[in-house]
Amino acid sequence: MTLQTLTQTPEAPEAGAARSLFTVRDLRLSFPDLARKPLLGPAPRTEVLKGLSFDIPAGQITGIVGESGSGKSTAGRVLVRLLGPDSGSVLYDGQDIGHLDEAALRPLRRDLQMIFQDPMSSLNPRHKVWRIIAQPLKRYGLGGTKADAIAALGKVGLPPAFAERYPHELSGGQRQRVGIARAIALKPRFILADEIVSGLDVSSQAQVLLLLKQLAREMGLTIAFISHDLSVIRHLCDRVIVLNRGEIVEQGPVAQVFRAPVSEVTRTLLAAIP
Ligand code: ADP
Ligand code: MG
Repeated sequence: MTLQTLTQTPEAPEAGAARSLFTVRDLRLSFPDLARKPLLGPAPRTEVLKGLSFDIPAGQITGIVGESGSGKSTAGRVLVRLLGPDSGSVLYDGQDIGHLDEAALRPLRRDLQMIFQDPMSSLNPRHKVWRIIAQPLKRYGLGGTKADAIAALGKVGLPPAFAERYPHELSGGQRQRVGIARAIALKPRFILADEIVSGLDVSSQAQVLLLLKQLAREMGLTIAFISHDLSVIRHLCDRVIVLNRGEIVEQGPVAQVFRAPVSEVTRTLLAAIP
């Protein structure tokens, strides 16, 4: 399978008509810069997100692209509230979740799921696949039997026998499918996918992306898809946000950004596509 196969799947409904699941305005976030910490006193801070404003339309796949270090993962982690902003607003379904404490976030945790770049680091190596999928289900009081896990595996195209395997007995693409199965079993509203195909060969990439696209349409999921690779974004996403050094240099429907990029940064990323 190639990436082109993806383009032939049906697009999301009318891009302009979509409601925003997230509305982010002037998001700023800094980290302490420990390398420059003086002997006495606090470390100076480096601003990593410098006033981002963007929307994530409901039911669509929004790509976030940019060079390494541009702030993609940091921005994504704010959406799923693994990080809180210094300032600015992060509206989720109309509610500002930017400064909620952990207790207030608890009801949202299941809605906002994340699939990581390296599934080996997020799949417990000592647990069989079924337990990896079942554990969060149990935590949220949504069952968590082996049968539940096998049903989730079925949704990502893995036969029941995979329930008894350990992560190291899976290929990279299969591991990412397990990561996807674990996330979708919780029936979330939003999934942050951070460089989830970066470690895979092109054929496995295309298969995982096609699966994600199909599941998104089927379940009405909203997805933010982080990648440094614009060719992947082109075949998967409805919209794209281009980040450069913590700032948005371009955003819009994928077709428009690819046809007529306004930013030099986007043109450079486009030129890197073989
Ligand atoms: P990307 O995902 O686009 O590669 P990141 O969001 O991971 O970029 O990182 C953006 C910048 O923030 C980088 O300069 C990175 O070194 C810095 N950074 C990320 N996380 C932390 C952290 N926990 N502490 C300090 N600096 C960080
Ligand atoms: Mg990253």
